[in-house]
Amino acid sequence: MRLVGAPAGSGIVFRRTDLDNFEIPANGRNVAKVSYATSLMRGSVLISTTEHLLSALVGYGVDNVIVEVDNLELPILDGSALPYVQAFEQVGLKQQRRKREYIRILKPVEVREGTKFIGVYPGAGYGIEYTIDFPAPIGQSHLSTDLESGDYAAQIAPARTFGFREDEPMLRNMGLIRGASPECAIILTKNAVQNGPLRFHDEFVRHKVLDLIGDLALAGRRIQGRVIAERAGHAMHTALVERLLRDRSAWEFAHGFGEAPEPGKLGAAGGESLLRRNFPLPGERLPNPA
Ligand SMILES: [Zn+2]
Repeated sequence: MRLVGAPAGSGIVFRRTDLDNFEIPANGRNVAKVSYATSLMRGSVLISTTEHLLSALVGYGVDNVIVEVDNLELPILDGSALPYVQAFEQVGLKQQRRKREYIRILKPVEVREGTKFIGVYPGAGYGIEYTIDFPAPIGQSHLSTDLESGDYAAQIAPARTFGFREDEPMLRNMGLIRGASPECAIILTKNAVQNGPLRFHDEFVRHKVLDLIGDLALAGRRIQGRVIAERAGHAMHTALVERLLRDRSAWEFAHGFGEAPEPGKLGAAGGESLLRRNFPLPGERLPNPA
């Protein structure tokens, strides 16, 4: 996998170098099946598990980039977005002259399914409130954060994905077993974390926020508003994107915030940003296609 800078206005575009550079833009039109991970599909070409890289890009403030992959699956790495953010920090961002275009939320858009809920509301910044309620040992947890605060790299990116050991046979059947191995996920038994210690006492809800940011990247522009999610997951996240994009009265394109974040922090409100130069991710080996 390799990230290549892209002109202002291009957004995040995946490029399958193994398929004549076939391109799949990261937007709501290309969302494919969504269960334990989010996948994009255009025509018959698939890119799977996009959410952690997209989260890292949005969290770090990258608007325009081409993601070259020679495989249908993005690397899971350690199950978090930290290796991506560390790689970005090595090369830095370049400010582009064109002003960043946001999707500014004008009125509430909500999706409810049983006890699962997600909604997006007008608001300054990019606020996120996430509540989870899982069986033991996770239990209930809540996190409230704002992506424009500059905390993403330290507070969200390191949070790893997690899975229950009892779900392993099912995950294996779904071809997702890598998501439940101890090097790339927190593994849970009925009453304990099998491969501790956790990176945060509330690492689970932080990872849900990480996933949410990655999935909402499929709106195609950075969101200006406030998102509230309860017991949600990839399917709910992407359902919200779909509903939001369909309701053209619920948002408008906007340039800039009232207040510019510090340079080098999240946001880069002075202009769009892209990764400064091409780079391979360090120490990375692409998985063999199944
Ligand atoms: Zn995840």
